Amino acid sequence: MIEIRVGEIADIFGVHRNTVRNWIKSGALAASATVAKKYFVEEKEFRRFCALQGIPENVVSRLVSKESYWAGREEKIMPQSSFGEARTVGDRQSVLRADPGWADLCLTCGSCASACPISGVDGLDPRKIVRMVVLGRTSEVVASNWPWKCTMCGKCEEACPMNLELVKLFRRIRSLRERDKVPGPLHKGVVMALRRGNNLGIPRADFVGLLEEVGEELAEECCPGFVTPIDVEGAGLLVTVNSKEPFGEPDDMKFWWKIFHAAGESWTISSENWEGVNWGLFTGDDDAMRIMVGRIVDNMLRLDCKKLLLPE
Ligand code: SF4
Ligand code: SF4
Repeated sequence: MIEIRVGEIADIFGVHRNTVRNWIKSGALAASATVAKKYFVEEKEFRRFCALQGIPENVVSRLVSKESYWAGREEKIMPQSSFGEARTVGDRQSVLRADPGWADLCLTCGSCASACPISGVDGLDPRKIVRMVVLGRTSEVVASNWPWKCTMCGKCEEACPMNLELVKLFRRIRSLRERDKVPGPLHKGVVMALRRGNNLGIPRADFVGLLEEVGEELAEECCPGFVTPIDVEGAGLLVTVNSKEPFGEPDDMKFWWKIFHAAGESWTISSENWEGVNWGLFTGDDDAMRIMVGRIVDNMLRLDCKKLLLPE
């Protein structure tokens, strides 16, 4: 069984993503949906379909072996449009064009704006953002606060009849904002998380002391014998924490802990790099996001945990 991405297959086959989805929907390509626009397909079935479509064997083998189709081919990200000049609007080389075909496909139908729960707040309108990008008004859209009002819920993307990847676009716009101009406490939180392992810079000793104290309270209140499991090697589940809880709402941690206690769950919290809220993700800071994710993976390996709980 191999995993395929709709966008990747569309590019290789030289068709629109909707065509790939239609192949799958109609059963022409037997595949089952997973998450994030990916599908599972039997290797044999995939090879059969590729042969039918005349895809060269070396390309099929690379896909099957999971070697990145894009490796060494970054220039393909913004190629001369396969749709022809007549369909191109605005700056074709815009850094915001996540995919060569998508922006030109916008119908300006407004379904995205209708579906957006915060459409109209401070002038936010996903359709307007797409138009600005298509028209090459990159610096204006990067300087605007609209992409930062967006909650990245993805409702606009779900509503879009052309399957434009709007959330990816909004995140890309955020990534282009100078870091010291990222609104609110978000970038400060990223810097703090990189320095101290959590968004609010809570020192390790304070965090551990608080966890122990809350655990003692819980034992007295309703869970006799409860001891907060900190850095327990071999625990089944690693629990990460939203730093606003130990900072301002420590009792909120008890809800999960009570459930774990009642269920007899084997779990633990790491005393370091325990932050579960990755503001690198929300601010479009890929490097920071990678480091924070890597730290959680390190904790999983160090404590030999099999499962992970993220608060968001
Ligand atoms: S829903 Fe899609 S096609 Fe319609 S305006 Fe929004 S981005 Fe464009
Ligand atoms: S992802 Fe952003 S723009 Fe799209 S519906 Fe959600 S809040 Fe609105």
